[in-house]
Amino acid sequence: MLVMNNVYDVIVVGGGASGLVAAATAAKGGCSVLLAEKMEKCGRKIRITGKGRCNITNMCEADAFLVKVRSGADFVRESIEALSPFDVRDMLERAGVRTVEERGRRLFPASGKAFDVADALVDMAYKAGAEIVCHSPVTGMTRSGDLWRIDMARRSVMSRSVVIATGGVSYRATGSTGDGYLFAHRLGHTIVPLRPSLVSLRVDAPMLAHVCENLRNVALSLVVEGREVARQMGEMTINGCVLEGAIVLRLSRDAVDALTDKKRVELHLSLKPALTQAKLGARIAREVEADGSLTVEGLLRRLVPRSLVRLVASVAGVRAVAAAKALTADERVRIADTLLCLVLPVVDYGGFAEAVTTAGGVSLDEVDPSSMQSLKAPGVYFTGETLDIDADTGGYNLQLAFSTGYLCGCHLARQKK
Ligand SMILES: Cc1cc2nc3c(=O)[nH]c(=O)nc-3n(C[C@H](O)[C@H](O)[C@H](O)COP(=O)(O)OP(=O)(O)OC[C@H]3O[C@@H](n4cnc5c(N)ncnc54)[C@H](O)[C@@H]3O)c2cc1C
Repeated sequence: MLVMNNVYDVIVVGGGASGLVAAATAAKGGCSVLLAEKMEKCGRKIRITGKGRCNITNMCEADAFLVKVRSGADFVRESIEALSPFDVRDMLERAGVRTVEERGRRLFPASGKAFDVADALVDMAYKAGAEIVCHSPVTGMTRSGDLWRIDMARRSVMSRSVVIATGGVSYRATGSTGDGYLFAHRLGHTIVPLRPSLVSLRVDAPMLAHVCENLRNVALSLVVEGREVARQMGEMTINGCVLEGAIVLRLSRDAVDALTDKKRVELHLSLKPALTQAKLGARIAREVEADGSLTVEGLLRRLVPRSLVRLVASVAGVRAVAAAKALTADERVRIADTLLCLVLPVVDYGGFAEAVTTAGGVSLDEVDPSSMQSLKAPGVYFTGETLDIDADTGGYNLQLAFSTGYLCGCHLARQKK
């Protein structure tokens, strides 16, 4: 890489998912690129994604992908079309990462090791000719004529363009501490308020205090001010009063927003979403008829995991030790109602320390979606989670980071030419 008069074409601030792809793409396109990463190595967050397995992306077409984008779907369309999930798979395969597609079209490295993905991205950037400096937190940037002066801990460098790829504010130990928002604010950008997204929810349900259970094939509705606003089916985990797992995370963004607005928020859990009240009533009748010695506890044991039996009996207002055949019609209806709708008032959510992504960020009204360039500060670009974009779980967030980084890198390369 040739650096003319000690002036780089591009400085990328942050060596995460989006910064590495932006650096590799711009360098491959002929730009002199310096990537400054504040931690001891790049891609620390990538290395812990997908519980250490890295759900790289979701193998769907753009339209299906964009449905899963919670904020900024229109804004990122061009990025996703420029670098699709299929392109990301090809890009990583070319870089030596074999991939496998799993349930729900989620793509993982075949090795099951997230650090293979991180290492491959670092390699790509190196091979394209980018210079990477770690232990180099960027502390500020100032305009100087046509150039930008970028201040790092131990030195300053000059550059024609700067890409702010510093990520969000979740899991701060990975290096994402929100510096990019500060830089953006100083450059005159609006920051849409930051909220934790894809995060656990805390319910006010003392009856759950000692329950620890993974539930499959359940349905969870998010009810705000008495109105169902979203419903998810799948897996979740009850960990005392803290609810976690895929379907909880997917509902969490709306729940957090509603709680922030001081609205009344509930989760309605259906333990038997495939059954109607009538079918469940018939099932209960069959079980009782087939075994006259059955207790309520025994009956419920056939319908829900053991740890939930006492809870369901208590909410339905029936004694667990009572004989099932002695249940009144009204009591049977109450049991069925409870199985179909356990009401759990939501009172709190996990913080940024445990959130998968950050909702909010640099306002999309102030960034050009075809290049990621700031409309307030020419020569400055924003990529990845620094922007006010976020999506569901399932590989969508990394893809957003890759695609926005790529589009930005392409634009920089075109400018160079
Ligand atoms: C536990 C966990 C699991 C996840 N699992 C998945 C998953 O399986 N699939 C998925 O799609 N998404 C997943 N995500 C989300 C995904 O990791 C992020 O959305 C994605 O990494 C964002 O990429 P980014 O480039 O914007 O930021 P990051 O990857 O966070 O990178 C930002 C980089 O900038 C550096 N930096 C910050 N400030 C400075 C500074 N001042 N100077 C220099 N460098 C700086 C940081 O050290 C960091 O390396 C997960 C997130 C978490 C927390």
